[in-house]
Amino acid sequence: MTELTDAEVPAYWAALGLPGLIDIHVHFLPPQMLAKVWAYFDQAVEHYGVAWPIEYRFSEEERISRLRALGVRAFPALAYPHKPGMASWLNDWTLDLAARIPECVPSATFYPEPDAMSYVASALERGARVFKVHVQVGGFDPRDPLLDPVWGLLAEAGVPVVTHCGSGPIGGTFTGPDVMEAVLRRHPSLTLVVAHLGSPEYAAFVDLVDRYPRVYLDTTMAFTDFLEAVASVPDSVRDRLPDLGDRVVLGSDFPNIPYSYAHQIEALDRLGCGSDWLRAVLWHNGARLLNIAG
Ligand SMILES: [Zn+2]
Repeated sequence: MTELTDAEVPAYWAALGLPGLIDIHVHFLPPQMLAKVWAYFDQAVEHYGVAWPIEYRFSEEERISRLRALGVRAFPALAYPHKPGMASWLNDWTLDLAARIPECVPSATFYPEPDAMSYVASALERGARVFKVHVQVGGFDPRDPLLDPVWGLLAEAGVPVVTHCGSGPIGGTFTGPDVMEAVLRRHPSLTLVVAHLGSPEYAAFVDLVDRYPRVYLDTTMAFTDFLEAVASVPDSVRDRLPDLGDRVVLGSDFPNIPYSYAHQIEALDRLGCGSDWLRAVLWHNGARLLNIAG
């Protein structure tokens, strides 16, 4: 297969016998915050050493219609804070978006702060079915004692936490597999979705999948030409993918990607793991994690 286009994506999942795609790693943000994120990516050469032209820099309405045209039947908004005092209003915003957009799965976030436990409990009560944490952007220690009851509550609720905990594209004081494993040791039943397949510490994060029954890997940017050029997935990890079919879940980072959505799908297809693997990754695993019927 060469150069799958976005227009061809619906025929691609239909040929697999799927009703569409479920993408566990999509971002929608309050407009003023999104403008700041996009301004940051405009300076990507300074920040990351590589240009990062955003492919889907459109209005919220247009971004939603692009996802619908691709056949993405369920996606969370995955907003996340970079400082204290933000998470609670971000949760109000993402839960409101989910109430307005049928395909949008209610999501929430948190930060180590005294009221974290109460707004996380409130978000769960209001239907949040997935949480997002970004260890590098947040700049906090996931082992912070203020978060211990939060991880415990989310583990007990069985709600997945999509966590950017790998050290790519830039590392932070608390990124990397060791810190997250310390959290898992305390909360071994936590449903942890390691974003970006743990890039660039792929092998160590795959080891966590072996050791903890509810650790998953999202595919966000993994195997794309863009990420392969800077942090390629080693053969030792590729060799293990066929056996990880029930623990890998589609993620894309839409809209903030420097290539087409179709390229992420193509990057998974060309792994050669087969149709059953693709069906699990593109639909069934996400459906199970996000509690999507049908
Ligand atoms: Zn992301």
